[in-house]
Formats: sequence, C-alpha cells, structure tokens
Amino acid sequence: MRAVAKLAKAEASVGVIDAPEPEAGPGEALIRVSAAGICGTDMAIYDWAPRMQPRIAPPRILGHEATGIVEALGAGVTHIKVGDRVSLESHIFCGECRFCRRGDAHLCQFLGYPGISIDGGFADRVAVPAQIARPVPAGMDDHLAAMIEPFGIAVHSCMAQRGVSGRTVLVNGCGPIGLMTVAAARALGARRVLAADLNLKRLKLAEQMGADLIIDPSKSDVAKAAKDATGGFGVEVGIEYSGVASGLDSVLAATERMGDIRLVAGPKDPHPLDINAILRTGISLYGVHGRRLWQDWDMSVELLSEGRVDISMLADPVLPLDRAVEGFEAIKAGAALKPILVPEQA
Ligand SMILES: [Zn+2]
Ligand SMILES: [Zn+2]
Repeated sequence: MRAVAKLAKAEASVGVIDAPEPEAGPGEALIRVSAAGICGTDMAIYDWAPRMQPRIAPPRILGHEATGIVEALGAGVTHIKVGDRVSLESHIFCGECRFCRRGDAHLCQFLGYPGISIDGGFADRVAVPAQIARPVPAGMDDHLAAMIEPFGIAVHSCMAQRGVSGRTVLVNGCGPIGLMTVAAARALGARRVLAADLNLKRLKLAEQMGADLIIDPSKSDVAKAAKDATGGFGVEVGIEYSGVASGLDSVLAATERMGDIRLVAGPKDPHPLDINAILRTGISLYGVHGRRLWQDWDMSVELLSEGRVDISMLADPVLPLDRAVEGFEAIKAGAALKPILVPEQA
C-alpha cells in the first residue's frame, strides 16, 4: 500500500513509500483511510525538531488525525464493527496507570501516538488499538471527521479550568487550532472573544468564525488592546497558541486578576516567566495536552456534527496522498491552514 513516511533522521526526508499491508492484531482495528490531516506535530517531525527526535524511529508512517472505514477487527473488539466509519483519537493509553485510573488518560504514563510510536494514518490503511477508533455520526463530512482530533484540543482549551461561558476570552495565535478555538469559544458561550495574529488572512477568518475583536500584534499591543476592550481589566481567559516567548508574556499581561491562562503551544526554548506577576494576580496556568478522554472528544463530535460550529473552511489544501509533501511545504510557507490528505484521490 502507499504510505507517507519519515524516512531518515534528518530535516524533511518525508516521502511516499510502498509499505507492507498492515493487519489487525488482537484488540486492533484495521481502517481504510478516507482523509487525514497534517498538523503541527507532523511539521515538527518533518523539520526534525529536537523535541521530536527521541520519539521517532524512521522509517515511520506519519499521521495521527485520520478518519476511515473499519475493514477488519482483531480478537476482543466489541465497540465497533466492520464497515463502521471511525475517526482516530491520538492518545493511545494504557488504562491501568495512576493517571488512567483516576480519569486523566490524556496524561497516561505510557502514552503512545499513531504516527509517532506506531505507524500512522497517512496511508491507504492503518492498524491501531481499537480503543482510539471512535464511531463518526452518519452524515458527518470526512474532512470534519478528520478534524475531530485537533478540534478536540480547541474544546479542551475552552472547557478546562472554569470554562469560557459568560467570560471574556483572548485567543493569542490563529493557526488552525487557534481558529477552531475562536469558533468553539463562541459556541460554548463566551461573552467576548478577542483574537490576535500577525497574519491578516487568519485574522479575517477569526472574525468570520466569531471573534468580536481582532488584534494585529505588529500594529497594537495585545495586552493594551485586551484591556481597552474590557474596561481596563484584561480578559478572564487567555489561551496561548502563538508558541513564541513574547506571546506568552502578552497573554500574561492581557489576563485579569484571578484569570485563567491555558497553554496550548509553548516556546521552543526555556523562557523566564514573571513569577511575581502570577503570584500578585492569582492567575492560574493550565497546560492543555490533547483532549480529556472522553468528554472533550464527545463534545467535539456533538458540536461538529450538529453544525454548532463550522470549521469546514480550515480544510485547506485538500491533496491526494501522493502529494503529501506539498502539504508540509504549504504549512512551512504559511500558505496552508489544515492540509487534508485524501488517499482515494490518487
Ligand atoms: Zn495533531
Ligand atoms: Zn495509563
């Protein structure tokens, strides 16, 4: 079968290969992939970022945001059947460790991921532990089904700590998941949504997806704009997606006393934080890792399948599997939102 793999321990080194057909072992599901999204983590693997190097042993088939049809099941799988449409959660969890047992499986001690610890979904077929293959409602478009996983991060970032309902929210960084967060915050009852990004096209999309105020940090100070929009106090919830140190500092300065800060992206290198600013203001910091299982996943499916949010415009570009490298390059060039690979188009 065709597959897109990381081929060597070097920058780029991603290509289409002829891979052996996977099989469903005990507890596994074999899925014929119909759509799969390229995400920031895939980009970090493509760029061979230092943080990904210890986690990947090439050749490794990439992809953890995928949807498709169940073609075969190994022994012991009961929650899905052959022919079902499913979408992949990317956290493969043990179910037995301290964190799984207390309901924090997204932080399992032995967490694995398709496309990282096992072969992933940028392929004609993928075999995964059936625990991560979740049924997709009938009528839900394949592109949306492939985006449940990243959208679930947006939902997690909205629902963590004290949520967004009735509150003022700053989304700092409008990449695909930042934009999804604007839409999710709106759907989940935020009183006012502010969105910041350097890219005008993304700011326009943020506006279209429900932002009340857009901020270009190259033109206006994010913290000042947030304070001006909130009677001088700052936002109640600051969600950091920019992934640069100055972005985190801006969110800290833009958030009011006793506010919540949710970190979804972090700077590449360690960064000194103004600890006294946190101490003085009672602000709390929360690290968003993936989706809490299964509440964030289930809520994401509901919001998307009921049309409560529209993120369909983020599936861009849509490419046949063989042209996957174009998707990576388009992200690198800042020209893509969420590239979707479609095996059958080839
Ligand atoms: Zn992802
Ligand atoms: Zn565990």
